[in-house]
Amino acid sequence: NRMITSGLKPEDFDIENSLRPKTLGDYLGQEKVKQQLDIFIQAARHRSEQLDHVLLYGPPGLGKTTLSNIIASEMGVAIKITSGPAIEKAGDLAAVLTGLSENDVLFIDEIHRINRSIEEVLYPAMEDFCIDIMIGKGPSAKSIRLDLPKFTLIGATTRAGMLTSPLRDRFGVICKLDIYSDEELCGIIKRSAGILGVDIDENGTAEISRRSRGTPRIANRLLKRVRDYAQVVKDGRIDEETAREALELLEIDRLGLDDIDKRVILAIIQKFDGGPVGLDTMAAAVNEDRNTIEDVIEPYLIQKGLLTRGPRGRSATRNAYEHFNIEAK
Ligand code: ADP
Repeated sequence: NRMITSGLKPEDFDIENSLRPKTLGDYLGQEKVKQQLDIFIQAARHRSEQLDHVLLYGPPGLGKTTLSNIIASEMGVAIKITSGPAIEKAGDLAAVLTGLSENDVLFIDEIHRINRSIEEVLYPAMEDFCIDIMIGKGPSAKSIRLDLPKFTLIGATTRAGMLTSPLRDRFGVICKLDIYSDEELCGIIKRSAGILGVDIDENGTAEISRRSRGTPRIANRLLKRVRDYAQVVKDGRIDEETAREALELLEIDRLGLDDIDKRVILAIIQKFDGGPVGLDTMAAAVNEDRNTIEDVIEPYLIQKGLLTRGPRGRSATRNAYEHFNIEAK
């Protein structure tokens, strides 16, 4: 179901920016990460220095870009945004780095997708704030060293383990973003409803939060679709019934499971007798990348109590059988 993909969809662009919290106080959930960052930010500001390099990892749509913008604004510095796939040549990266000002934040989304040879440019940049540039070709080529302003690199990735260790080791602060609880998502939905001027009650909020896959991006998207339904079919107010009807019309699963979630659980139940089954075997059975399953799919299924991860592999829980109306043996 494309509605509940956690990746960014074109229709999200307009509203994603208006709903994006601007301060740590407005950024709900992720308490541990916020606490840590708050201390590091205050300390760096106190010393009038740049913040240490920060690596943020976790599934898409959990707020890595948002948090990076907040870090920059709390530090009172500018942010430049790019992504691993956008950096095609070492020269692209050199241009971005030399364009930074003192203490700026450079945000690189999907940092694990930077090509290895380009990545090496980052090592001295992160460690000594300089880059080596090759001038000329062949035997007359020489390398000159350029000083960079002190800056903070914030890298985002779905999993810290996807980074090469030389790159990972150069981050002073490593933060894992977790899937949001239903209560936290309720807070986010209420805040967004306030900004959008949507009239929604507690139960309507809860109904949307339960189906949002623990992901703020999905929660905001569903809120907008339910708002449309409430406006056109109902009196504009969102209560539990309106939310449920709208979400059922959109074929959003009761637990917010998307197509891949369902295939994973059903494969364990139907092909592997409920498990345990190893990650690679399961990945092959559902024809998905093992990293995607481990980093994006499983955390939510585990949080919802549909899947367990043990030493011998993954198993479907009783809840999973019940959710799909399959009789457990
Ligand atoms: P990521 O970079 O991890 O893919 P984003 O930072 O783009 O995710 O977040 C997607 C959207 O979700 C943002 O536009 C923002 O409105 C919302 N969002 C994310 N995290 C939070 C949060 N902690 N509190 C409120 N809204 C959030």
